[in-house]
Amino acid sequence: MTDAVRVRGLWKRFGQQVAVAGVDLSLPAGKFVGLVGPNGAGKTTTLSMVTGLLRPDQGSVEVVGHDVWRDPVAVKARIGVLPEGLRLFERLSGRELLGYSGRLRGLPGTEVDKRATQLLDVLDLAGAQHKLVVDYSTGMRKKIGLAAALLHNPEVLFLDEPFEGVDPVSAQTIRGVLERYTASGATVVFSSHVMELVESLCDWVAVMAAGRIRATGTLEDVRGAHTTLQAAFLELVGASGRDTASDLDWLGGGAR
Ligand code: ATP
Repeated sequence: MTDAVRVRGLWKRFGQQVAVAGVDLSLPAGKFVGLVGPNGAGKTTTLSMVTGLLRPDQGSVEVVGHDVWRDPVAVKARIGVLPEGLRLFERLSGRELLGYSGRLRGLPGTEVDKRATQLLDVLDLAGAQHKLVVDYSTGMRKKIGLAAALLHNPEVLFLDEPFEGVDPVSAQTIRGVLERYTASGATVVFSSHVMELVESLCDWVAVMAAGRIRATGTLEDVRGAHTTLQAAFLELVGASGRDTASDLDWLGGGAR
């Protein structure tokens, strides 16, 4: 089994805050990989370093056999990224954004136009293709960002919270597109807090907490003896059985 992503000894500090504390991770090619962890676990920071958007303090990252920081052009040509926060070119229409992204990737204009039309159709954005991105809803922004990340048919697609703010119908559409994409041998790595989603989509899972990888492997391996990924996750991140209710004894009950 070849690895799509190989991370060794990755560290990142922001002042006193250690965001990523020595991550080692091998993610197999051709899989649907879920990176899960509580808020602040270090998922976005890790994905940013893996995709060449943030320089690590220490450690190495290889994507499809190329070192991300020594050979950035080779890596960037082979990956698609839907980052957190999604800074898009707001004054372009959806179609213009795809036209620009495709040409930036070096695809011929006619091919860009063909792929853009198909992606806009499949993602149900055809009706909004001439609207400016600044006027798109949160879910529409995710979808146009996904289309831009897929346009050059990358080998590995990295998605930070791709389903956040996306309605169930669009989520189903995105799932369909991604399932088709991985079935052809490509790799998807996405971060999420939604365990049911990860459980139903992913064949490989990495659980992160406090800057470290707590478990990684097939869905079955990580779930272990637990019936759900949610239960395994709560135990791995040390949150099971925490009694928050007694800390908030002022909440509700009529006393102001
Ligand atoms: P979430 O699920 O809430 O998006 P996450 O797992 O993606 O969380 P990160 O965004 O990677 O977590 O953050 C990890 C830690 O690093 C957090 O404590 C966060 O406050 C800190 N951090 C991240 N980026 C910065 C930054 N630019 N400057 C300072 N601290 C940062």
